[in-house]
Amino acid sequence: MAARSGRQFLDRLSAARVHVEIQGETLTGRVNEHPAFRNVIRSYADLYDMQHDPAHRDVLTYPSPSTGQPVATSFLTPRTPEDLDQRQRAFKLWADRSFGMLGRTPDYLNSALMALAAAAGWFAQADPSFGRNIENYYERVREDDLLCTHTLIPPQANRAVSGSRQAGGTLMAHITKEDDNGIVINGARMLATIGPFADELLVFPSTVLRNTPEDRQYSFACAVPNDTPGLRYLAREPLDYGRPRHDHPLGSRFEEPDAVVVFDDVHVPYERCFVLGDPELCNGFYTRTSAAAHMTHQVIARTTAKTEYILGLVSLLTEAIGIEQFQHVQADVAEVITTLELLRAFSRAAQADAEPNDFGVLTPAWAPLNAARNLYPRLYQRFPEILRKLGASGLMATPTLADVTGPAAADIETYLQAAALGGAERVALFRLVWDTCISAFSGRQALYEYYFFGDPVRMAGAYVSSYDREPYKAAVRAFLERP
Ligand SMILES: Cc1cc2nc3c(=O)[nH]c(=O)nc-3n(C[C@H](O)[C@H](O)[C@H](O)COP(=O)(O)OP(=O)(O)OC[C@H]3O[C@@H](n4cnc5c(N)ncnc54)[C@H](O)[C@@H]3O)c2cc1C
Repeated sequence: MAARSGRQFLDRLSAARVHVEIQGETLTGRVNEHPAFRNVIRSYADLYDMQHDPAHRDVLTYPSPSTGQPVATSFLTPRTPEDLDQRQRAFKLWADRSFGMLGRTPDYLNSALMALAAAAGWFAQADPSFGRNIENYYERVREDDLLCTHTLIPPQANRAVSGSRQAGGTLMAHITKEDDNGIVINGARMLATIGPFADELLVFPSTVLRNTPEDRQYSFACAVPNDTPGLRYLAREPLDYGRPRHDHPLGSRFEEPDAVVVFDDVHVPYERCFVLGDPELCNGFYTRTSAAAHMTHQVIARTTAKTEYILGLVSLLTEAIGIEQFQHVQADVAEVITTLELLRAFSRAAQADAEPNDFGVLTPAWAPLNAARNLYPRLYQRFPEILRKLGASGLMATPTLADVTGPAAADIETYLQAAALGGAERVALFRLVWDTCISAFSGRQALYEYYFFGDPVRMAGAYVSSYDREPYKAAVRAFLERP
């Protein structure tokens, strides 16, 4: 197969028997028909369709190295600046489609798999079969254009101890058995966004593991089909309320479900294992392979798209109600512009300073990407705050479509008009602002931006300890010693 269409994505999903627990209901397939998932699944299908759109296919696909058929650009192993540029343009094109609200578009984990497979030699140091496994797996996902989700962190029972020490070590997903064919996993991982409708689950390492014998059974990386027996998802309450697009413009399109992942005697064949019983390799998984850099390259394109959306939205809001001329309003809009330009600068710097890694993969420079990764979780939190502050009571004057088209239509047209908009238009705009800064959907977006890449507090700690500050300390010391 090659790059999938939306129809092909939906057909595969209809046949999958994914086990999802949601609001007291047990699903064992047909998740694409469930009201909690069907709208966002349609948005994903739309992304797959874009790969076949003559206007986009040259950016979104490239010829498969094994078949020559078009496959998704996010699998392209970059060797030249043009390759990196095509990857960036493909990321941005998809991100623009959802204004960056879809965090788990396939390109996020495709980028990780591309980097991991290119670093097959690094996996092979433990056992040559692991190197082959990651290469074969990447090729399979690329050729079948599968949608992956991933799950990393242990359940949040007691963060005062390591995952392997929670509840006697039983909670965190771990290897309970090995047989001639593979491993058996039991326990849980905290979360997998889009888990209910992905094709594949990547069970990858996360928090730094101590290199002790006790940590070995928690130290692995593997991949399982999403409908593997014994695998089940505990989905949170959906934030898509099945309302008309007018009322819930973002939530009715882009509500990505999050779910706890439970492993109940899940058997994983060896050919789907990439690291086994090796805390040291787990700890180097993302950095030594450059997977973190390629994932962040995708993320920065998405967050740029999101920030462009916020700038457009806040500008329409301030124009609509005639508040553009106030200086504090301008200061807030300037803050959004500054964030946008920062992201663009980081992205350009990362590409301009790209260098081949140990495996010959042209890798965007980590320093600007790492700066973006550390900044955006905090900067994004200001956007809903700014929108709430500038929207004020207008965010509560937000009748529904039934009102706009019903008996209240005349009142709405008269009393909800804005300086630059008629009443119905103003309501449509303010509902979009509401869904960006007040709705449950928007709250989850803010939480996502803060945490999806890890805890910003601990990321900052790692940032500080890995940053070479010696030259700057030396310069200050030299100044202090100047006569
Ligand atoms: C919307 C959303 C989607 C997500 N999607 C996925 C996904 O698809 N796959 C996936 O694997 N993960 C996913 N995550 C999880 C994400 O990786 C974690 O939220 C993140 O790593 C932080 O871990 P935690 O949530 O367990 O927080 P915790 O570790 O429980 O932290 C809770 C609080 O305690 C503090 N704290 C805890 N331990 C320490 C410590 N040792 N030192 C300092 N402070 C500490 C933290 O700073 C934080 O304030 C998602 C999270 C969210 C919110």
